[in-house]
Amino acid sequence: RAKRAGRDTYRFFTPQMDEEVRKRRELEGALRKAIDNEEFVLFYQPKVQLDTGRTVGAEALLRWRRPGVGMVSPLEFIPLLEETGLIGRVGSWVIMAACRQIGKWLRSSVGPMQVSVNVSGHQFGEGGLDRDVLRALNDNGVPADLLELELTESTLMANTEHTIATLRHVKRHGVQISIDDFGTGYSSLAYLRRFPIDKLKIDIAFVRDITSNPDDAAIALAIISMAHSLKLGVIAEGVETAEQLSCLRRQGCDQVQGYYFSAPLPADQFEQFLRKEAARPAPAAALAGPRR
Ligand code: C2E
Ligand code: MG
Ligand code: MG
Ligand code: MG
Repeated sequence: RAKRAGRDTYRFFTPQMDEEVRKRRELEGALRKAIDNEEFVLFYQPKVQLDTGRTVGAEALLRWRRPGVGMVSPLEFIPLLEETGLIGRVGSWVIMAACRQIGKWLRSSVGPMQVSVNVSGHQFGEGGLDRDVLRALNDNGVPADLLELELTESTLMANTEHTIATLRHVKRHGVQISIDDFGTGYSSLAYLRRFPIDKLKIDIAFVRDITSNPDDAAIALAIISMAHSLKLGVIAEGVETAEQLSCLRRQGCDQVQGYYFSAPLPADQFEQFLRKEAARPAPAAALAGPRR
């Protein structure tokens, strides 16, 4: 209907839409300045190995300290970064900042910490993802296997040949590849096997009600057994309770991540989290006990 009316009138441009357009422009302008003004920061969420109960890595999650507003969630600005093409620059920054942190930890008492970064499909379009990754590793003296790239199924569904070539290139150097939000997309296993994948990340959607919804529990179990038969690692995201944790443990999941252990933290607080963990003699009570 808007189309028909739009031919000779501008009726479909309501004042409310004007306001939305204005807000979007403002946000876009602020985002352009955010990189140069160093307003982006990475938070780190611990990834815990289930059989030892110890933190073995972290996921780097982007945050924007917007002046006069405060901490802004990536859900609010990643889509706009993608639409405007700014994600290329921000994505490069994320990879460099994560490698800088891995290098810092490597040469400190923290030691080797595997860090994953989220990669948007648009970063493949720019053509320089492999260049960005190898440069960041090299500049920071970081072994490639300490860096992991998280990609979603939808990212892998687009741009196939170029994406495969790029991933194979970084993979040859030892960079790890995982599929984020696994189980929510529409890709088939036959399709995914063409990519050099190391790990599946079970989406929070199946973890949330894993203890009360038998379907979700069955899906999580299917993903875990499938991952293992394909010799892939498997991690569950969004673990918030001891009950979810013990369910995933019984199912044989390798790693877990979620508020039950910690929210994403600034680097210094992440280090503090590690120190507290190291001070504990044995794995947390909820983690103790036989695996199956
Ligand atoms: P994701 O990669 O699936 O990240 C998981 C999200 O779940 C994060 O939200 C994390 O803070 C949140 N989370 C962690 N534990 C729990 C839990 O126990 N319960 C619940 N309810 N949530 C939990 P966040 O940090 O807001 O990031 C949202 C999404 O934004 C990410 O989803 C990712 O797709 C995207 N993103 C974040 N950083 C980057 C980045 O550097 N580049 C790109 N391209 N995307 C990013
Ligand atoms: Mg992720
Ligand atoms: Mg995820
Ligand atoms: Mg998710």
